[in-house]
Amino acid sequence: MNKHPHLTFTEEVLKRKAELRPQKDNGSGLQRHEIKNIIFFNGLLLLNSNINEIRITYVKNDHWLLDYTDLPVFLGLYNGFLVYANNIRLDKKEISDEKLENLLNKKIQMDHKINQSYFGSLRKDILEISYDDAVLAGTGKALIHWNLNTKFCSKCSLPLELRNSGWEAYCKACESSSFPRTDPVVIILITNGSQTLLGRSYQFPNKLYSCLAGFIEPGETFSMAARREVQEEVGIDINNIKYITNQPWPFPSSLMIGLKAETDQLKLDIDKNELEDAVWLSKEELKDLLTGNSNQMVPARPGTIARYLLESWVQNNI
Ligand SMILES: [Zn+2]
Repeated sequence: MNKHPHLTFTEEVLKRKAELRPQKDNGSGLQRHEIKNIIFFNGLLLLNSNINEIRITYVKNDHWLLDYTDLPVFLGLYNGFLVYANNIRLDKKEISDEKLENLLNKKIQMDHKINQSYFGSLRKDILEISYDDAVLAGTGKALIHWNLNTKFCSKCSLPLELRNSGWEAYCKACESSSFPRTDPVVIILITNGSQTLLGRSYQFPNKLYSCLAGFIEPGETFSMAARREVQEEVGIDINNIKYITNQPWPFPSSLMIGLKAETDQLKLDIDKNELEDAVWLSKEELKDLLTGNSNQMVPARPGTIARYLLESWVQNNI
């Protein structure tokens, strides 16, 4: 078990420099900084692995991979470099996704500078990817997702024009802009004395249990949302709700708000439409679970806010 539970995506390594987001021509006035590009493809990104960790494969502006991309999104300044996220275009008229993937993989293997690289999943590799790179990859992934899904005006349905290096979508007809959004989610460590509640959603990987969570609805504080979610999902009342920490979660674009709450109730009324199962575990049972000594259950993975909450509680830090 980690002595200091780590939260992926929370390192403050990226200087966003909103004032540098070029309005029209990328890079104007920014030439004194070298540019590094992250390449996304169908939700995956170009990575490489060494013995210790997985890193992003950055490519320079003159790299052949950029011939296949669009949507350059300016992420900010990292270690003196300007970092852009770029997305491989999927043009089904010319070539199928599969053929394009094969073509790119072949070209990557022939390029001695990046021939150890592959298109990998940020979510799958979250444990091994370096902390700094996870921040850049997560920010890029959320922005690329927003750009790909913000094509038409929600008022008049005309095509939107992407501006501000991918941070604004503008409708000429309505003269209005929309901006990348973040969806707040409460995630709650619920305790009753020395027991805590773990739940399992239908879409979770096999045997995985985690803290209860749900989206905040319009008009709610995070406490209201937590009380409602817990009442809806397991039929118990919680009180003494405390904010612990938070985490951006770019799948696709949430902000996880980690809370701790107490209850004096134990009897659960599980809403089987929402949850497959929910169980109370003692601190000792949770310790065993976190150290991998359980055949029946798997806890939330390291790097996630659920794991952070569970480990912090087991270690009596919260
Ligand atoms: Zn419009």
